[in-house]
Amino acid sequence: MKYIIIGGVAGGATAAARLRRIDEQSEIILLDKGSHISYANCGLPYYLGGVIPERDNLFVQNPHSFGERFNVKVRVEEEAIDIDTSAKVVTIKNRQGETYEETYDKLLLAPGAIPVLPPIPGVDNPGVFTFRTIADADALHQFIQDKKPSHATIVGGGLIGLEVAENLTLLGIKVLLVEREAQVLPMYDEEIVAPIHAKLKKQGIELRLSTSVVNISQDTNDLVVQCEKGEAVYTNLVLLAVGIKPQSSLAKKAKLALGARGGIRVNSFLQTSAEDVYAVGDAIEYPHPLTGEPWHCFLAGPANRQARIAADNMAVGNKITYEGSIGTAIAKVFDTNIAMTGLSEKQLVKQGIPYLTSTSHSASHAGYYPGSSMITTKLLFSPDEGKLLGAQCIGKEGVDKRIDQFALAIKLGASVEDLTKVEQAYAPPFSAAKDPVAIAGYVASNVQKGFMPNVTADKLHEIQEEGGIVVDVRSEKEFSHGAIPGAINIPLETLRDRVGELPKDRPIIVHCAIGMRGYLALRILEGNGYRNVFNLAGGYRTYSAFPHPTEK
Ligand SMILES: Cc1cc2nc3c(=O)[nH]c(=O)nc-3n(C[C@H](O)[C@H](O)[C@H](O)COP(=O)(O)OP(=O)(O)OC[C@H]3O[C@@H](n4cnc5c(N)ncnc54)[C@H](O)[C@@H]3O)c2cc1C
Repeated sequence: MKYIIIGGVAGGATAAARLRRIDEQSEIILLDKGSHISYANCGLPYYLGGVIPERDNLFVQNPHSFGERFNVKVRVEEEAIDIDTSAKVVTIKNRQGETYEETYDKLLLAPGAIPVLPPIPGVDNPGVFTFRTIADADALHQFIQDKKPSHATIVGGGLIGLEVAENLTLLGIKVLLVEREAQVLPMYDEEIVAPIHAKLKKQGIELRLSTSVVNISQDTNDLVVQCEKGEAVYTNLVLLAVGIKPQSSLAKKAKLALGARGGIRVNSFLQTSAEDVYAVGDAIEYPHPLTGEPWHCFLAGPANRQARIAADNMAVGNKITYEGSIGTAIAKVFDTNIAMTGLSEKQLVKQGIPYLTSTSHSASHAGYYPGSSMITTKLLFSPDEGKLLGAQCIGKEGVDKRIDQFALAIKLGASVEDLTKVEQAYAPPFSAAKDPVAIAGYVASNVQKGFMPNVTADKLHEIQEEGGIVVDVRSEKEFSHGAIPGAINIPLETLRDRVGELPKDRPIIVHCAIGMRGYLALRILEGNGYRNVFNLAGGYRTYSAFPHPTEK
């Protein structure tokens, strides 16, 4: 058997190693048009900022060591330029520019993705960069060493834009971040991301939201960036990080079927429309398990997993199916971590899927043990069965382990009530006896079962305008430090005595700082015959994170 693999980083290198482990005798050729294979592209932003000081640490393997260990013919700087799927031949261009042909029995495509270039004048000016490969990182690194820039403009506030913004800031470079949407990390819901905006500003990063760059021109020593809104900015370098798209041009040329969104279409065995050709990673398009809609999951974990599955299916016949990725992702933004899994509220609205939400704030580990910090968790779940559809977390510590539990729960089809059955290892330095996952599960179950009807802060103004009364049950002192406009303060301890002050014929929204005292107040009012009572999801803390009508 002879295998050819096109693309030698996450998906390609994993598949080659797996193939060799299950098939010692076959011939395996691994092609990459770049100079390296099996490197940590996820580490590139941290190399730029000096957090990873040694460039060599980015290489998991080099072509020689990989070739020796796995008995694989590794050919770098060799680009597959054509595939004849009937004759089973790949045409390859080598580093000298010559072409040659190589036959295969089974072929794997793992060509990854390419950065999207915004269609604006000036993207090809010197000093304008993209950030995808080791060559891109080297070029930017060299530019910084040579030119010592003091100002950088990053176009795009997604994961890569933010990671590079942080690392340039660590180098003492002043950063302007321009994002077309009203928030950075547009895949998250706005109230979860709001603390990230505050964090970026605190670190000296200038944010321009809801605007796009329309022109990049060159001045004597600088680049000049013009946005739709605001004054032109003089800057020393521009990084374009507006998104990526699947590298599917070779597949298209070979007449392999592409999906609706332009990625390589594969079946559940990760097999393309040609029987002996498989594809994995950023290049493919696959149905989202929760929506059934085709989507691109540009993440390293799924690429590696798909590679293993595809390798097995190529070697021993189609036996293993891929169930799809729900997009579990995490980002570090200075000392804050933000993570999501499954569907966001925005995606649920777009898909027309009915849902409820809950928000909880809980300590990352026991509050009495030093170093504890708050994790905010938003859950999204089906109204009828409480099936978990999505989760988002933000905090300083322990965000990673919580999001992973939510991700597993979603993949197993669990409900929010099932979250209360998860057993977490607990001792004060690690968690609380009621872990944030359990608390999120309890809060969401209360919402789903109708024990705690809630409203989200973005709907509050509307309900107030329709006659709703906001009752703040925090202490007078807390109230005096900041309150929702129009709210009346009835501290929880006095509510039973003062309950008669509240009308029964108008909606009442109770709230406290994070939701717990609001829930108790709601139960007191319901126990006293009030029927139109809601708890404000996530309390004043979450309310403060939303942009409100007067601020918009
Ligand atoms: C800066 C950065 C940070 C990231 N951070 C994270 C993170 O924190 N977490 C996360 O989950 N994911 C992260 N990712 C995404 C993750 O790296 C990708 O999802 C993953 O690498 C995809 O694997 P792949 O094998 O599909 O493609 P890649 O790893 O991109 O490999 C594709 C390879 O194919 C080669 N190739 C393409 N066409 C040809 C051809 N015709 N002939 C020969 N070779 C070809 C390319 O040169 C490339 O080397 C990050 C990506 C970047 C760029």
